[in-house]
Amino acid sequence: MSLQLPASLTPSKVSTFKECALAFRLSAIDKLPEPPTVQAFKGTVVHRALELLMWEEPQGGRSLETALRKLGRALDELLAGTEGTALGLAGEELEELRADAEELVGNYFVLEDPDEVRVLGTELRLQVDVSESRLRLRGIIDRLEMDTDGELVVTDYKTGRAPGVSQEGLRLGGVHFYAFLCEQFLGRRPARVQLLHLREPLAISSTPSDQSIAGLERQALAIWAAVRRACSEEDFRPKPGPQCGWCGFHAYCPAQGGDLSLVPREATGPNPATVQLSLEATA
Ligand code: SF4
Repeated sequence: MSLQLPASLTPSKVSTFKECALAFRLSAIDKLPEPPTVQAFKGTVVHRALELLMWEEPQGGRSLETALRKLGRALDELLAGTEGTALGLAGEELEELRADAEELVGNYFVLEDPDEVRVLGTELRLQVDVSESRLRLRGIIDRLEMDTDGELVVTDYKTGRAPGVSQEGLRLGGVHFYAFLCEQFLGRRPARVQLLHLREPLAISSTPSDQSIAGLERQALAIWAAVRRACSEEDFRPKPGPQCGWCGFHAYCPAQGGDLSLVPREATGPNPATVQLSLEATA
């Protein structure tokens, strides 16, 4: 019996598959919940604050002071949500998170002047079908805007550390996903795609080309073929590495002394007739 193909993939899931196939399986196929982390929660809060700033406030009204007010609102909202409740943040830990999130929002203003951005949409959910392959690509774009030349620009916020200079391909990998998605869905290729790394702060920008778009499609198909093969052969091997430090699946991982047979089997089953590949923005 083969494992059920995942219903969707995100860029972070693609990275997970490359880093450790077993972690991918446990997350994307068995759908085991990963314990919430302060780091991921903080990323969600900052993304929400910037969404509120860019979508609710017109050009001319997007000051740092306003952004910090939006951050306070975002934090209150999310602390009351499932993830916030599970984390149970309070006292010094909560104040540390707030201070760090404020620093990230402040760093955003180092990278660009939000009053100059002509926002077309935020948190846009796009979905496209890739011809021949039966793949459905789906993703969430943090922000779509129009530049002064009337061209589309896709922006993705990052709150984690940017990969090192030697990992240029990794740094730009997500960029090409968004460009591909935008062109397929809107029928128009963005003139530019940018990653705003708020921690450093650092802006990484790329101009999509015929070559980069075709390369992304090839990469998506190759990853999908590898996932299908692994599902068919039930072969998702653990690959210990630095990522084990933040992996939430030690209890199921043989490489960590865990037991894979503890994974609930009801989450797996035969391959479905239709497959979706979704590409979501990462924190
Ligand atoms: S602990 Fe390490 S080897 Fe095991 S599933 Fe997680 S990332 Fe993979």
